[in-house]
Amino acid sequence: MKRIDPRPQIVAMSNYHSPQVDVPVRLNTNESPFPPPAGWTESLGAIASSIDWNRYPDRGATALRAEIASRHGVTPANVFVGNGSNEVLQLVLLAFGGDGRKVAMFEPTYQMYGQIARVTGATVVTGERRADFTLDPLEIERVMQRDKPAVTFLCNPNNPTGVVEPRENLQVLLENATGIVVVDEAYAEFSDWSAIDMVSEDLPLIVTRTFSKTLSLAALRVGYVIAPVVVIEAIEIAALPYHLDSFKQAATLAALGYTDEMVARVSVIKAERERISAALAGSGCDTWRSGANFVLFRPTTIAASDLWQGLLDRGILVRDCGSWPRLSGCLRVTVGTEAENTAFIDAISQLTA
Ligand code: PMP
Repeated sequence: MKRIDPRPQIVAMSNYHSPQVDVPVRLNTNESPFPPPAGWTESLGAIASSIDWNRYPDRGATALRAEIASRHGVTPANVFVGNGSNEVLQLVLLAFGGDGRKVAMFEPTYQMYGQIARVTGATVVTGERRADFTLDPLEIERVMQRDKPAVTFLCNPNNPTGVVEPRENLQVLLENATGIVVVDEAYAEFSDWSAIDMVSEDLPLIVTRTFSKTLSLAALRVGYVIAPVVVIEAIEIAALPYHLDSFKQAATLAALGYTDEMVARVSVIKAERERISAALAGSGCDTWRSGANFVLFRPTTIAASDLWQGLLDRGILVRDCGSWPRLSGCLRVTVGTEAENTAFIDAISQLTA
């Protein structure tokens, strides 16, 4: 038998993914706790029947791109839709990263930037955030000048810290960047500003979005990027033909008719987030002010791993971030329904007492 011999980058990497444990209260992957509107779900049968299943999908996802473009005031040539924003990030890295190029990020941040950059053969370079997880503009300048990365990631609001990035930091980044700058707006609906209005043909700026969080469609796997036309053209070369299936294109287009209903839930989630943050602080945990649908915290009266297990024993799953860079002893909880959050808060007060 031939030797089974993955590339060294693959061998070196431990698995990022959050364990999928079947528990009643799942607060570990930042989805919306609410299902999509019933009107959309009920339309899926008719959508499925209307598909020419024996034909390949529209490779350009023309109707979907046009609708997303018109919502953001850009042209369809500025939009690319993928199977979740992770696929979009992978395609960006295939097109702009790779062997011999550097990819930058400011830790702690979303783990997949480093993971996908390494899998696609690039060298990962990192800058540091302050102890409160805000980012010093001088650090941005330092990393840009030192490493001259081909791709730099900024996550706003940042996962897993929840910190909202000031617009000035993006301006400093764009002034100093030597390659493209990716602003990941997976949690955009929670932020008070978006970089999409800054995208232009003259700037190396691209912005990614997802349907997996506020838009309640994590199961459908859809995300997209708004970028200059030259960037979209490069991504299209890296993408597989017919990567976006016909059903997904039509179902996503239909979902766009319900965005107001889904975005209206953001205020409910924000209020619940504040209730969770206050309860965590009241239980002696260190917390960081979140501008997203999750809260990062560090227990001080019990080891994080014991707290994680204690929550799991009570049927509540949160994310253990303890092995992530700069996050030793930290857990992250996603805002759930009111009842789920109450179960979490009650368990925390028992376990930290
Ligand atoms: N970016 C960030 C910051 C995320 O937190 C996530 C989901 N965990 C993603 C991208 C990927 O989301 P999806 O692939 O579901 O669109």
